[in-house]
Amino acid sequence: MNRLIQGIQQFQRDVFPANRELFARLASGQKPEALFIACSDSRVSLEWITQCGPGDLFVCRNAGNMAPRFSRGDDVSATIEYAVSALGVRDIVVCGHSDCGAMKALLNPASLKDMPHVKSWLRNASEARLALRKAQLSQPSAETLVTLTKLNVRLQLDRLSVHPKVQTQLRAKALELHGWYYQIDTGEVEAWQAAEDRWVAVRESRHGLAIGAPQVSQVVGRA
Ligand SMILES: [Zn+2]
Repeated sequence: MNRLIQGIQQFQRDVFPANRELFARLASGQKPEALFIACSDSRVSLEWITQCGPGDLFVCRNAGNMAPRFSRGDDVSATIEYAVSALGVRDIVVCGHSDCGAMKALLNPASLKDMPHVKSWLRNASEARLALRKAQLSQPSAETLVTLTKLNVRLQLDRLSVHPKVQTQLRAKALELHGWYYQIDTGEVEAWQAAEDRWVAVRESRHGLAIGAPQVSQVVGRA
């Protein structure tokens, strides 16, 4: 905890005075670039990856970057609704990542025997797990984990696309959905390109990263 307290002191001493105008502007309201639905994993530093700063990203984090099926009253749906309706975000990014503990637990359900709440939460990704082949499930490899993580991103995009507020904005072409996969050890980010049915390294993309959200039927059975 001392390190965090020292961090606050350093922020107040060095960082805040050097950015006084920025914080004065932010104090009167926010207009973030995008909503991110990302994993809670401490290694996924969205502002670092995107080189953004305070006020740029509206973030909803949970284990496994889930956008559960829309239901009135759940906190992820409320965050999405607020981002779209009140803040007017025009892009939503679902960001999965390498070595994801939630995805590893999905591949090894026995590891969850003492974590009933996590087990219950991970049901939000069960369709992605179902899309894996039997051989992949019986002997999961490092590649299986990547495949599952990417399938889960696509599944959550699909869920997002039928959220009522999102659906309305998609139809009005006022919103785009994006699926990203962040590789921690290389810094690479891949984006799901539905039209091309493949993941593309963001640095290789020449024509933007807009995607059409895939349907669940596309996800299941295509591991
Ligand atoms: Zn994770």
